[in-house]
Amino acid sequence: MKHIFLVFTLFLSITLFAQKKVVFVLIDGVPTDVLERVETPYLDEISAKGAFVEAYVGGEKGGESETPTISAPGYMCLITGTWGNKHNVWGNGVKNPNYDYWNIFRMVEEIEPNKETAIFSTWEDNRTKLIGEGLDEGGKIKLDYSFDGFEKDTIRFPHKPDRKFILDIDELVSKEAGRYIAAEGPDVSWVYLEYTDDIGHKFGDSPQMDEAVRLADVQIGRIWEAVKQREENHNEDWMIVVTTDHGRNAKDGKGHGGQSDRERKTWLVTNQKGDFKQPTPIVDILPSMVDFLELKLPDPIRNQLDGESFLRLQE
Ligand SMILES: [Zn+2]
Repeated sequence: MKHIFLVFTLFLSITLFAQKKVVFVLIDGVPTDVLERVETPYLDEISAKGAFVEAYVGGEKGGESETPTISAPGYMCLITGTWGNKHNVWGNGVKNPNYDYWNIFRMVEEIEPNKETAIFSTWEDNRTKLIGEGLDEGGKIKLDYSFDGFEKDTIRFPHKPDRKFILDIDELVSKEAGRYIAAEGPDVSWVYLEYTDDIGHKFGDSPQMDEAVRLADVQIGRIWEAVKQREENHNEDWMIVVTTDHGRNAKDGKGHGGQSDRERKTWLVTNQKGDFKQPTPIVDILPSMVDFLELKLPDPIRNQLDGESFLRLQE
């Protein structure tokens, strides 16, 4: 009996005082049917702990919140928990985002500035334009660590039409994400990998696309291994979410941007169990991360969210 009590107390103190950490990974433009037919052992391992759920992007089809199934609008839905009619990103040019809808990094930096934030990305605009780092309108926030912008280094990564340089950058970015997360355990990180979308545009539904998804799974594995290592060696409790920003057209799997079922349908993999909507909108990810981190959002910010947390209520 005494032993049981001791074990219980130990369990309580570990779960009560474990530091909560979040990493979310976005692999670009991977349709659900492609993901389902390709072997992805790392994603399978993550979902075995939590869930693999059908998801969607694009807002309400035909409604006020309808959002193009284009990359940057999709990322912005993820990081702000709102649809395009609020965040105002309609294309990859990212003309005039509405920063009144705070993203996850602004929430963390404004509410709990001691928390460490990081981004590992094959597209620099994610930090400079979507997050709006350093901008007055974006709250002049600064991430603690950023590893991005390599697509602009055409000496080191010459832009050849086979887009292999993007794969090389994804490799670099995912390796550094794994290394940094294992070493430093940042509180909130975003990993963005692009190659799957480039191959989708080039080859559409093809063996090349399947191979790109297999490679992305290996890259995700680097981050997952780092998360497991942190949990083994530190008193930390990690949430990982992996998702995509849109599907692809039904005709050949090359294009996207419209409101067809295959372009809107996406997926979500997490190590957390939850009470998921079927399907789960991409805008539910942000409130779930906020819940997990126990961030106390100011009411005006919380009230403008389009999404809801999918985390199962703790007893
Ligand atoms: Zn995309």
